[in-house]
Amino acid sequence: EKETQPPRRYGQSRLIKKMKDLGVGTKSTRHHTIEKLYDRGYIEDDPPQPTALAEAVVEATEAFADLVVSEEMTAQLERDMTAIAEGEATLEEVTAESREMLESVFAELRESREEIGDHLRESLKADRELGPCPECGETLLVRQSGRGSYFVGCDGFPDCRFTLPLPGTGEPLVLEDVCEEHDTHHVKMLAGRDTFVHGCPRCAADAADESEDRPIGACPDCGDEHGGELAIKELRSGSRLVGCTRYPDCEYSLPLPRRGEIETVDQYCEEHDLPELHVHDGDDDPWELGCPICNYREYQAEQAIDDLEDVRGIGEATAEKLQDAGVDSPDDLRDADPESLADQLQGVTADQLRDWQGQLAG
Ligand SMILES: [Zn+2]
Ligand SMILES: [Zn+2]
Ligand SMILES: [Zn+2]
Ligand SMILES: [Zn+2]
Repeated sequence: EKETQPPRRYGQSRLIKKMKDLGVGTKSTRHHTIEKLYDRGYIEDDPPQPTALAEAVVEATEAFADLVVSEEMTAQLERDMTAIAEGEATLEEVTAESREMLESVFAELRESREEIGDHLRESLKADRELGPCPECGETLLVRQSGRGSYFVGCDGFPDCRFTLPLPGTGEPLVLEDVCEEHDTHHVKMLAGRDTFVHGCPRCAADAADESEDRPIGACPDCGDEHGGELAIKELRSGSRLVGCTRYPDCEYSLPLPRRGEIETVDQYCEEHDLPELHVHDGDDDPWELGCPICNYREYQAEQAIDDLEDVRGIGEATAEKLQDAGVDSPDDLRDADPESLADQLQGVTADQLRDWQGQLAG
């Protein structure tokens, strides 16, 4: 008996090799194409995996306009370009042929526009369904607010206003696992290296509702004036933080790790008069996080970009190129004109420079 094998996933380099074998793209465009797939939400994770969106789009186009998704079409266009470059075909011949091919493709797409839309909506909705709404019995869905943050909402909206928060980091992915108590799918938050499993959103909210704030000391912002206290709080989104008991009047807060049990130990930070925190996760020795204010200061210092290579997307080779062009520090990079600097750098675009400058502004 033959076992069914899951389709093989491609690491980025294997994906690039496959594109090469299929004649898709050129050496200089393949990396860029993969980046675009990430940007548009067609692949996620590393090694890259197709998203539900990608699968839905491929399914819909295969059903309604299969020439678009065929690698033959892309490869044919690439071959035509090469033919022009090598003088074997004229630009006119090739553009006429390409135009004809593309026109028939677009005609096909236009005709089935509504069916494609319906198909996409249906398959994407199926990927956002979590389980029954506790208030009205309709289906809970992962939704996105106008400001772009994700939350759990009811398909019965606006009649039903039931909602649950989701963590603020990453993009939610509905997993196959189901919480038995709530008949609700678990959720994973995709955030590159910070990806984590959030679990059942209803369990997370219940746990927060049942938890009590644990005061640890005076609030540095409003303790003297208003008697505000810092407390370890669990949020319904599953996050935890040290926040002021006078929230929302005082918004002072410090982040805490998502996982592990937080213990306050009988040792105090002399500077901030707060207890040190230990985080217990599994059987390992606890992580001695220390005073939450001192810990956050250290974290911020680590995040500071004080070297070109601290910028996401700049490696050793690129840093050297930048230095050769007179850009020695993050400050120099921030002040540079992207267009004229890009002209001096081989393989670096003005858009990339603007992205790096954006990181420095943040
Ligand atoms: Zn509902
Ligand atoms: Zn649950
Ligand atoms: Zn306060
Ligand atoms: Zn401290």
